Amino acid sequence: MSHITPLVRETCSETLAEVRSGVPISREAALRLIRCSDDDLPGLLAAARAAKECFKPGVITYSRKVFLPLTNLCRDYCGYCTFRRDPADPGAHTMTPDEVLAVARTGEKLGCTEALFSLGDKPELLFPEMRETLRHLGYKSTLHYLEAMCGLVLRETSLLPHPNPGLLSAEWVARLAAVSPSMGLMLETTNADLLAPGKAHDNAPDKVPCKRLRTIEDAGKQSVPFTTGLLIGIGESLEDRVDTLLSIRDLHERYGHIQEVIVQNFRVKPSIPMAHFPEPSQGDMLRTVAVARLLLPEMNIQAPPNLSAPCYDELVDAGINDWGGISPLTPDFINPEKPWPHLEQLRLRTEAKGCELRQRLPVYPEFVSGVTAKPGLLSEKLRAATGNDGLARIERAA
Ligand code: SF4
Repeated sequence: MSHITPLVRETCSETLAEVRSGVPISREAALRLIRCSDDDLPGLLAAARAAKECFKPGVITYSRKVFLPLTNLCRDYCGYCTFRRDPADPGAHTMTPDEVLAVARTGEKLGCTEALFSLGDKPELLFPEMRETLRHLGYKSTLHYLEAMCGLVLRETSLLPHPNPGLLSAEWVARLAAVSPSMGLMLETTNADLLAPGKAHDNAPDKVPCKRLRTIEDAGKQSVPFTTGLLIGIGESLEDRVDTLLSIRDLHERYGHIQEVIVQNFRVKPSIPMAHFPEPSQGDMLRTVAVARLLLPEMNIQAPPNLSAPCYDELVDAGINDWGGISPLTPDFINPEKPWPHLEQLRLRTEAKGCELRQRLPVYPEFVSGVTAKPGLLSEKLRAATGNDGLARIERAA
């Protein structure tokens, strides 16, 4: 039963009645809608789904990928993270070049087209053990090693690298853009209060929002196709979520380089400092995705299905047009206890929602020509992988 007064309900309905196809809603409208009652949720979802169908009708994409956790050492200590390790922790590991290539080659045989590199941020600044590992491998820093491994995968396989390396200088954006058609950095939130003691970003120097915005802006100045997004349920307010989406919208309006916005929901795990935090409810997640769609009506919006299972298909109702990277081979190392749905299941559920499931590349179709315009191996490999519609040229059956 709703506790919202009839007056507020009417306001949400009125706000929805003003939504115009392809026109982003205002901050005020977004704030009203993200607080809408359960009674108003069906109307919000209908508006978001209509906006998605206007943008990309009848299709939901995914990227068939292998996950390469290049190193799980990290100098940050985010309160929700199960990926990071200190050097002495069980499971601490930096992949060797042979390991990287072996996973990439296996993925290639399984029809993957993306090599997603995930790694901790600048571990060598905190841990002498990582400095020693890098010295042994022959690299000055984790970013130098990442650059070399992206280059290796690009040269030796048909996979296209997509690195998620944390904060980058303008110079490093350029260097990684020479060996990968796209890259990513989750903005997560613009709320700097979460850096305070006991909060989600306590002791996480790379999570300062203005530094992350600067990296995304540096990518924009260089027209690098960029994936970013928000993480919900880590102590931010609903207003923070709207403002985080607006920051992304503002960067995209200025530089036109944001290829995808991910809405990721916090999931609790027993081993993390935030083990007693409440998870966002399904309604909360659906409202946030729907408001993201209406704030960014012509943006690729992704939500990971494994973090909303078993009811992940309702995310289609909220206006997503992408399921993100799905691996037929490697687990989700960031959320290892939440396996991806089987691809056949994903296809069936997507079709039940009236959409076709299509395989995309790490770089979205609207950004392919910008990358292939520059000569070189990256351009050649991307051309070879891209079909006439900008999606994967050879799509494996789910
Ligand atoms: S979320 Fe990223 S930056 Fe934070 S601790 Fe985990 S690996 Fe490090």
